[in-house]
Amino acid sequence: MEYITKTCPVCGHEFVVLEKVEKKAIYCTLECLLAAQGKNNREKVSPIISA
Ligand SMILES: [Zn+2]
Repeated sequence: MEYITKTCPVCGHEFVVLEKVEKKAIYCTLECLLAAQGKNNREKVSPIISA
């Protein structure tokens, strides 16, 4: 399986996600997801955490 390294727009932390969920995985943790949604409710996204 392919993995993609992304950078969390909230905290700047780099995290790795599976390629197939790359478009949905925007934030590194649920905390960052909630922080972002607190400011901007337009999108529904899933936090993805992996090794
Ligand atoms: Zn983050």
